[in-house]
Amino acid sequence: MASKRDYYEVLGVGRDAANEDLKKAYRRLALKYHPDKNPENKEAEEKFKEVNEAYEALSDPDRRRKYDLFGHGMEGAGFGGAEGFGGFGAGGFGDIFEDIFEDFFGAGTRRGRRAQRGADLRYNLEISFEEAAFGLETKINIPRTEVCSACNGRGAKSSAKPSVCPTCKGTGQIRFQQGFFTLARTCSHCNGEGRIITDPCDKCRGRKRVQRERGLSVKIPPGVETGSRLRLSGEGEAGIEGGPTGDLYVVITVREHPIFTREENDIICTIPISFVQAAIGGKIEVPTLRGSVTINVPPGTQPGSMLRIKGKGIADLRGYGTGDQIVKIEVHIPKKLTPNQKELLEEYARISGEDAGIGSSGFFKKVKDMFE
Ligand SMILES: [Zn+2]
Ligand SMILES: [Zn+2]
Repeated sequence: MASKRDYYEVLGVGRDAANEDLKKAYRRLALKYHPDKNPENKEAEEKFKEVNEAYEALSDPDRRRKYDLFGHGMEGAGFGGAEGFGGFGAGGFGDIFEDIFEDFFGAGTRRGRRAQRGADLRYNLEISFEEAAFGLETKINIPRTEVCSACNGRGAKSSAKPSVCPTCKGTGQIRFQQGFFTLARTCSHCNGEGRIITDPCDKCRGRKRVQRERGLSVKIPPGVETGSRLRLSGEGEAGIEGGPTGDLYVVITVREHPIFTREENDIICTIPISFVQAAIGGKIEVPTLRGSVTINVPPGTQPGSMLRIKGKGIADLRGYGTGDQIVKIEVHIPKKLTPNQKELLEEYARISGEDAGIGSSGFFKKVKDMFE
């Protein structure tokens, strides 16, 4: 007790600090150094005691006055034991005690460990456009926690019942007195379980669960898309204390395709044709996911026209039929013409009249009329 720190310094407040400031400072520090937040931390425990002592002294007006006058020693005269509790109600500790109690213990106190469902796991799987369309079966490796198979999750080598923890006498908690408070912290000897295993399993070292990488075969149905989630029930993390196993979610990302895009269950692709093909029509070959298909381009096909190939899209994930392939027509206009080609096109324009066919459209007539 020789080098006792100044109480104001301990709380980090000035000598003229109001009661409210003391309370605030105390609350902050008590939470910071609370043993529940700092298990097995000797330094934090000391700090916690120091903070409690400083607040006890300074929050009592009479004791504070004495401390201000005489420093350490005098203010504590007669203090200790039962007298310490005299200040409990009078000093306005009630509310602050409740605050701290709530912060640390929430709605209920922690006692032992109950059965808990294992955590769900997520696995991101990237697949190709074709795999999404047709489905696939693949193997994935999932690192997860499983119930130890050597001890069947008992944690012990033998089937003898675990014995009651001598430290906490089976409650899972250690209660202790800190200033005005009776606090409880999780027993570190049994990790709050109240029981200890005397002959721990060699494989899981008494932890009951083990970490391992498990290879799983996953069947992806046709029709999935980016963001589709497949739930593999019971393939997540093992439960705690016999709780049920969590689920595994396989989340799909579909890679882009160089020529196809998808719109719901339809596949879209853009096919360039020549302006001659567009004008007089003809047959073109179109690639689909199921091999190439020959389709008819009708005479007079306009740029941006859509031609539909029935049933060449993607099978619906829920079994509602199959989409189509939609061919978007792009009309290619040559940038360079040979003299011969140019001559033929000029001839074409001549026989079609000055407007080469477009004059019949109302729009171009209106534009022409504007300049007359
Ligand atoms: Zn084991
Ligand atoms: Zn214990």
